[in-house]
Formats: sequence, structure tokens, C-alpha cells
Amino acid sequence: MCYIGVDLGGTNIAAGLVSEDGKILYKKSIPTGKERENEYIIKDIALLCKDIIEKSEKNIKDIKSIGIGSPGQPDVANGIILYSCNLGFRNVNIKKEMNKYIDLPIFIDNDANCAALGESVSGAAAKFSDSVTVTIGTGIGGGIIINNKIFGGTYFGGAEIGHMVIKTGGRKCQCGRNGCWETYSSATALINDTKQAAEKNNESAIYRLVNGDLSKITAKTPFDALLEGDETAKKVIDEYIINFAEGLTNIINIFQPGAVVIGGGVSAQGEKLLAPIRKIASKIVYGGELKTLIVQASLGNDAGIVGAAMLGKGV
Ligand SMILES: [Zn+2]
Repeated sequence: MCYIGVDLGGTNIAAGLVSEDGKILYKKSIPTGKERENEYIIKDIALLCKDIIEKSEKNIKDIKSIGIGSPGQPDVANGIILYSCNLGFRNVNIKKEMNKYIDLPIFIDNDANCAALGESVSGAAAKFSDSVTVTIGTGIGGGIIINNKIFGGTYFGGAEIGHMVIKTGGRKCQCGRNGCWETYSSATALINDTKQAAEKNNESAIYRLVNGDLSKITAKTPFDALLEGDETAKKVIDEYIINFAEGLTNIINIFQPGAVVIGGGVSAQGEKLLAPIRKIASKIVYGGELKTLIVQASLGNDAGIVGAAMLGKGV
């Protein structure tokens, strides 16, 4: 039997046929067109799934279930997205809409949870039954896997690790609190900090790397400047890494998982990011010995497809 996993994003809908052991056998993506009414988006998801079954020369009987990872807060039990500001969804019954077009069991969950499940099934945390995946992007997304299953809390909205306060009275977060981890450690925060530091130090290599246009700074820019020995970039990254390690160590102290998996654009820096984080975490972790592995995500954008597909496995 195979599964279909769908990664519903604000820009694209990516879906794939996935084997029992979490390997993608065939995949395809289409634009989301998120400005449309939600029923048209969901119809497109259903048609994409049908297309994938046909293109991979399978029959609907070969497919056990379809899993959909969506941004926002899911009601996993009923297949409803309660709220997604990214897609403009409010109480959208994905399961019911999908079943208008395709007669298969439908499972949904939050996209960050699906990415975490994907990494735990066939990615960087495959060796462990407990892991936490941290995705560094516009914010910080998190997915907690306990005993090979997603932990979403009683009401499915848990694992909002980006909104863990690491500095009381710190930076204002869009959630309404101050000092949330993501206000210091998201890619957005890194970009803003780099921009501000460059504005104060116009000798910095950062200026040259973006041809004098600071609006072109990406999360990669400070790491590129650091390679040239730029002091301004070094300060920004040192501070970024300290804050990242604080939040990550909290997670390790709470769960002591086999691995924490770091994904998202910034994680492409690999050991330049992870080695110093490990060094700090080893010093501050409770008990004085860092046993949890801190590793880079290995499935990239496919994690969401694999994890979504696996929502129906063993159910
Ligand atoms: Zn927050």
C-alpha cells in the first residue's frame, strides 16, 4: 500500500505518492492561488491527488489514505483547519470537501508537525522514537514527536515553541507577548539584526555583499560576510547563536529527545550554525551533559509531504 502526502503552502501545493517506509515515489506541485475561495483550493488538492495516482500508474485501491499538512491551527479529529492567517482559512472542513471528489480517508495536521513526522520517519531523526524538529523561517515552527507520533496537545495547538519567552520584557512578538524565541531566532530576526548592524557600521562587508542595498539582505548575508572575517557580521551571528541555543536548550531540557532537527533556510549553514550551538548547549544543558543530537534536517521541502502521508499510517 502507498500513501499520498500533501504539503499545502501559501505559494504552492506539493503532493507526492509515498511508500510505507516514507520514501517519495512520485511528486508534483501546483500553485496554491490562495486568493481564491477555499473550496477551489481544496478541489485542486483533490484533483492533484487523482493526477498523482494516475501518473504513477496506481489505482485508488493501492492508496491507503491522503494526509494534508496545512499552515494554521488544525482540528485533527474532525479534519478541520480552525484558522490559518496565511491561507485566510477559518473553520474549513478539508476532510468533507476532499471527500466530495475522492473517496479515501483524509487526515490533516499542522505543516510544522508534518515536517517533524517526516524527519522522524525517514529523515534526520529516523533512528529515534522521540525528536523535536525546529523550522527556522519567517517565524520558528516546531513539531514534537513522542513515541513516533505527533504530540499536539489536547486541543492540537501545542508545540508553538517559537512563542516560548527567552527574554522577559524583550522584543515585541506578533502573538502579543514580549521576548518570544522567534523574535530573536527566526530568519526574519536575523535579517533585521543584520540590517540594523550594517546601518551602524557602514564599513561592514555586508554593504558590499548587497551592492549597498540593505533591503537585499537575506539570512545568508551575515554568514557570507563572516567568511570574509567581517566583525559586524560576527557580532550579529554570535548574538543570534546565543539566543538560538538558549531556546533550543529549553526544548532539550524539557523533552531530552534523541535528536533535535533544525530545518528551514538558515539551517543550510550546516555546521557553521550547529557546531557553535552544540558548544553552548553543552555548557548550559541541565545535568551538564548534552546527550541529545543537534542535527540538520535532511528531507528539505519533502519533509512536509512525507510527514503528511504518514499521518494515515497505523491509524
Ligand atoms: Zn510570540
